[in-house]
Amino acid sequence: MKFNFSAGPAMLPAPVLKKAQKELCDWQGLGISVMEISHRDPIYVRMTEEAEQDLRDLMSIPDNYTVLFMHGGGRGQFSAVPQNLAKPDATVDYLDSGIWSQFAIREAAKYVQQVNVVAKVTETAAGKAIPQVSDWQLSENAAYLHYCPNETVDGIALHTVPDVSVPVVADMSSIILAEPIDVSQFGLIYAGAQKNIGPSGFAVVIVRNDLIAETCQDKVCTVMNYKVQAADKSMYNTPNTFAWYLAAEVFKWLKAEGGVEAMADLNQRKAALLYECIDNSSFYRNTVAIANRSRMNVPFQLRDDALDAVFLREAEAEGLMSLKGHRFVGGMRASMYNAMPFAGAQALVDFMTRFEKQYS
Ligand SMILES: *Cc1c(COP(=O)(O)O)cnc(C)c1O
Repeated sequence: MKFNFSAGPAMLPAPVLKKAQKELCDWQGLGISVMEISHRDPIYVRMTEEAEQDLRDLMSIPDNYTVLFMHGGGRGQFSAVPQNLAKPDATVDYLDSGIWSQFAIREAAKYVQQVNVVAKVTETAAGKAIPQVSDWQLSENAAYLHYCPNETVDGIALHTVPDVSVPVVADMSSIILAEPIDVSQFGLIYAGAQKNIGPSGFAVVIVRNDLIAETCQDKVCTVMNYKVQAADKSMYNTPNTFAWYLAAEVFKWLKAEGGVEAMADLNQRKAALLYECIDNSSFYRNTVAIANRSRMNVPFQLRDDALDAVFLREAEAEGLMSLKGHRFVGGMRASMYNAMPFAGAQALVDFMTRFEKQYS
């Protein structure tokens, strides 16, 4: 039995992979694979419509929002968002809560006059923390406020939606479908697929209709143009048909598992178990303030980093895979998206407890 703690591309639900395997060469009785038919074939179009409806049901997406299935993963949207939502002479507000925010900020700066960073993570007595919204330096007339509710590398999360007067744009790549949210609090939500939805290179965008009305920059790349993709039902060019199919299967699986509420409960229990293990030990540590801890990605360090390689080797020998921290931060990181069962968190904690006893 393997448990895969990869941050992304990440573990997918086993029943989804098995179903995909079973129908790989013969999809819906056609005698050919889902990758080999036209995306305009009514049978494929029906699948995409069901996928959208399932996502709408799972997230309770209001009718005045459009759902797009796009190319280019999470970072494609780092460019698409400013080009579609802001004019070249605009100011946009960005929260810098970690590495993914910083990449988004750098990309936005190519397309707009000014990227105003409203706040950064600070070191506090309780650990790394995101300043209170009341302390953010918001601009007078930003086109939007962008933030990343779950920083995948840093393991830092903002658990409340900023209440501001401009449209809120959220990079939910590593948190989408992991807990209930109120979509109406956002102008736009996007997510690269490879954490909680399906294969990489694919992205979901949920955008309030008034924001796609006419705010595009003149030269926005056409495949990244929300207005064009909305008019063409995300089929302006050939979509990633296999990724869309797999995402559709993940949505069906999620519904059968009890939806986002059931996932939130599971994710909360897995994270609590792991943080409790870390906090009750002087051998492991996590440096994020409790209020800003991620429930999806848990970075932790060993007291002696000379033991890192041993830890990883022994973990792998027990089937606990991909626990190495991001190359920018080192240490360990356990990513536990929806597909990770509670037994995976339990196996990790059991291993960590034994490892601590042996090496401390
Ligand atoms: C993984 C990730 C991305 C990058 O996604 P790509 O599909 O590799 O472009 C962006 N933002 C967050 C929060 C992520 O976790």
